[in-house]
Amino acid sequence: MAFTLPALPYALDALEPHIDATTMGIHHGKHHQAYVTNLNAAIEKAPELAAHSLDVLLASLSTVPEAIRSAVRNNGGGHWNHSLFWEIMGPNAGGEPTGELGALLTTTFGAYSTFRDQLKAAGVGRFGSGWAWLLHDAGTLKISSSPNQDNPIMDGGRPADILLGVDVWEHAYYLKYQNKRPDYLDAWFNTINWGKVGERFEEAKG
Ligand code: MN
Repeated sequence: MAFTLPALPYALDALEPHIDATTMGIHHGKHHQAYVTNLNAAIEKAPELAAHSLDVLLASLSTVPEAIRSAVRNNGGGHWNHSLFWEIMGPNAGGEPTGELGALLTTTFGAYSTFRDQLKAAGVGRFGSGWAWLLHDAGTLKISSSPNQDNPIMDGGRPADILLGVDVWEHAYYLKYQNKRPDYLDAWFNTINWGKVGERFEEAKG
């Protein structure tokens, strides 16, 4: 029942020119793989946890034995966050969401461009490493950010309410964008798979 690295749903170069193939290969094959490997190593030390889903583990970190709690938080969070990240990106993507999600985005933020500015600001403003999120929240939408590999599930949030997340760790962009996180984020908006995000929205609103 060990956790496994999910295959990328597209080729390593599919997100070019916004995200380069070298970054994708290292990010998925090395960084994400390391989170999976280290999560499994931690769980091996507490076999009573092996029956739990990752969602349950992240929602109940306080009950995880202290000796492995940080390892489960960091590597379990890393596995969850990256599994979402690959899914909500895609080739020939970007633009603005349509349908009910697009309408709610406009209602909530005033305009798509305001949403984009606010999510970008959340990513740029996250000091050090972390993530910025678009969340469903009881029929509305909100933006937040987390440090390291934390995510809203650890604060009691529903997994389904996390509609999309953007990785602002340097490993996500440094080869192509160096220190220019804002430029990476500008490009990243062209990779959002709004079809997939819309599916998550449908699930979240029930
Ligand atoms: Mn990453």
